[in-house]
Amino acid sequence: MGDLGWIAYPKNGWEEIGEVDENYAPIHTYQVCKVMEQNQNNWLLTSWISNEGASRIFIELKFTLRDCNSLPGGLGTCKETFNMYYFESDDEDGRNIRENQYIKIDTIAADESFTELDLGDRVMKLNTEVRDVGPLTKKGFYLAFQDVGACIALVSVRVYYKKCPSVIRNLARFPDTITGADSSQLLEVSGVCVNHSVTDEAPKMHCSAEGEWLVPIGKCLCKAGYEEKNNTCQVCRPGFFKASPHSPSCSKCPPHSYTLDEASTSCLCEEHYFRRESDPPTMACTTPSPVSSVKKGKITKNSISLSWQEPDRPNGIILEYEIKYFEKDQETSYTIIKSKETTITADGLKPGSAYVFQIRARTAAGYGGFSRRFEFETSPVLAASSDQSQIPIIVVSVTVGVILLAVVIGFLLSGSCCDHGCGWASSLRAVAYPSLIWRCGYSKAKQDPEEEKMHFHNGHIKLPGVRTYIDPHTYEDPNQAVHEFAKEIEASCITIERVIGAGEFGEVCSGRLKLQGKREFPVAIKTLKVGYTEKQRRDFLGEASIMGQFDHPNIIHLEGVVTKSKPVMIVTEYMENGSLDTFLKKNDGQFTVIQLVGMLRGIASGMKYLSDMGYVHRDLAARNILINSNLVCKVSDFGLSRVLEDDPEAAYTTRGGKIPIRWTAPEAIAFRKFTSASDVWSYGIVMWEVMSYGERPYWEMTNQDVIKAVEEGYRLPSPMDCPAALYQLMLDCWQKDRNSRPKFDEIVSMLDKLIRNPSSLKTLVNASSRVSNLLVEHSPVGSGAYRSVGEWLEAIKMGRYTEIFMENGYSSMDSVAQVTLEDLRRLGVTLVGHQKKIMNSLQEMKVQLVNGMVPL
Ligand code: AMP
Repeated sequence: MGDLGWIAYPKNGWEEIGEVDENYAPIHTYQVCKVMEQNQNNWLLTSWISNEGASRIFIELKFTLRDCNSLPGGLGTCKETFNMYYFESDDEDGRNIRENQYIKIDTIAADESFTELDLGDRVMKLNTEVRDVGPLTKKGFYLAFQDVGACIALVSVRVYYKKCPSVIRNLARFPDTITGADSSQLLEVSGVCVNHSVTDEAPKMHCSAEGEWLVPIGKCLCKAGYEEKNNTCQVCRPGFFKASPHSPSCSKCPPHSYTLDEASTSCLCEEHYFRRESDPPTMACTTPSPVSSVKKGKITKNSISLSWQEPDRPNGIILEYEIKYFEKDQETSYTIIKSKETTITADGLKPGSAYVFQIRARTAAGYGGFSRRFEFETSPVLAASSDQSQIPIIVVSVTVGVILLAVVIGFLLSGSCCDHGCGWASSLRAVAYPSLIWRCGYSKAKQDPEEEKMHFHNGHIKLPGVRTYIDPHTYEDPNQAVHEFAKEIEASCITIERVIGAGEFGEVCSGRLKLQGKREFPVAIKTLKVGYTEKQRRDFLGEASIMGQFDHPNIIHLEGVVTKSKPVMIVTEYMENGSLDTFLKKNDGQFTVIQLVGMLRGIASGMKYLSDMGYVHRDLAARNILINSNLVCKVSDFGLSRVLEDDPEAAYTTRGGKIPIRWTAPEAIAFRKFTSASDVWSYGIVMWEVMSYGERPYWEMTNQDVIKAVEEGYRLPSPMDCPAALYQLMLDCWQKDRNSRPKFDEIVSMLDKLIRNPSSLKTLVNASSRVSNLLVEHSPVGSGAYRSVGEWLEAIKMGRYTEIFMENGYSSMDSVAQVTLEDLRRLGVTLVGHQKKIMNSLQEMKVQLVNGMVPL
């Protein structure tokens, strides 16, 4: 109701009148009824109407019109129509235009007109007429109604346009679309894929002039990890996956696989189950089926031949078989033969002895389980037939011949080298000391080219070609060990240039080495000071005996030794940047994280090599890493008097040994349990030193305080700006339980992964949780962030185990803190993924800042 601001011209023509309809509801009308007067021309102009971007608009009129015949006096002037016009304009300035500028839309006639009678009966004969106008080109328009002598009441004028309303079709969202200007026009509209969906074929639809969507083309598909529900893409729940947009819906993980994450595109195989890379993710994970039927073939007093059937249902092509065998009750010393055939002959066996065999197959998915044990016995000596007994004699004589030949060649070779002052105590010498081969724990037997044979001793599983470290102490004469592993260099080949450091036994110099037929190159020269004792000489050269056994790009390389003249020297490759701790301190903050991780990767790779060799370093620390001009880090310092007389960091423990406390694992300090796992602990400290540019671990804390704090479960906090992944790795290296620490090969692959994916290094340890001068508690979970076991399990989506935990007495967070992997298995948490999730969460909770820890 109210003044619409419409203009009537002339003023006594159209009138704005408030009325009531037949139901007595108030209505607002414009009326004109000059039927008695000649020459009527009454205009009613609307105010400006925006077309809101539409190019075709519709006008619906509701009006009543008086039947001329019902009027008294047969009036020639009475009309039963009126005219409707429009005028386009971008703004309201067009108001004052002349009538003849308006464009006629139509003459409007009434379908029904009313009479006096209707008025009396209060019957409203309302007419509805709709007209459309277009194409419109301006922002708006005026309407005008011209009366030329009718009796009209305009009850409603509705102006509208049509649109196709926003809709989702085939997972594409189509926006509100105003119809085209032409009444037959179809507008092509592109759709946008809904969240978590991708275009399959560009989605399009057509909007008709009537505002209806027609002819959908193309579609979107829910991306991998999401499925379609009610026109949206819903995430696949844990335990379900969708591998490709084209898969119709999330499917349950196939047998023996799992996923703990939402939106999984594939499921992981459970432990010991595999899937080939070429297998689709819908395929179940399987385990290679073990070799079951093993049959003995020919047996002599020194050999046993075996054959077996390919497993019934291998999960892929069998690439090779691994045959493990050992003398019965001597399992610590076993041999492994790899063969592509289903037959082998194990030779070199003892007569009349029982041997145990186990076979497993390898496919692209990995190794299957070993078969059950098969036991066969070699023939006793006396039982040998005359034919067979000939064979060993021939073999023995051939072997003796080979050995003699080797000794002669070795002798000739070493002699000719000595002539040039660069004699190798060549590895051929080993042939002259058969006992060494045994100690080496590795030999390649004469064998089928399809076979590879390795011996193992005391659990040192060796990769093909990797030897075992031999402790020089096992030699009665230490000089023999030096010459076994180190080349003798003539002093005249060496030019000493300057002193670069001080070692325990004398100065360390830089210089140059010129060997026959080679270019001169820089070396480091360690000298043994004059007046040494025999023990000092032995210990000094011991380092060379150890170093000489190693050949790896991240282990300092021994060039040779000078023992035949004085001073006695050890010559190694030259590392331009000296020891890593000093170098980092000098270049504080100068390297990118990737460069630092590269250094750590090198050290880990060197340590992996040492641990594969069975060598435990015991003094791994940044001061014992050397770094060259290419920033390649190499492990050095292989003192023979391992425990570390020469390390100024080493302190005497209560049990008498000297140990570099800050770098050493608790079990090595407490009961001298030095292993590769204790080297891993030290490696964690080296990581910390590297990431903090040579900061002293535990700062100025006393050794006693360090031992106590570590024993109580405190650990070094993250260095500043340290990627979270690296700090986590440090914490892993500092696990109290040495078996839970990562192995060096795992550390290498972890660092490789980080290097390959540098964005993973962007997440730094939260500055607020990294408080320098405070140690980090690495001890059992306190009350923690969770109020109950249920709340905790729910939070990590393992709520299904709440009841089992409660029933088994793990009702508080403190009790949960004690849970081990074993406990989880006992509780029936058998899925490896669930075990990992729970153990990882416990581990995370254990890393909490200690409030009020004494500043160091
Ligand atoms: P070491 O007795 O092995 O601890 O050596 C003492 C110091 O001599 C080290 O801290 C290094 O600064 C330096 N040094 C030892 N070996 C080398 C080398 N191969 N290249 C460069 N500097 C070395």
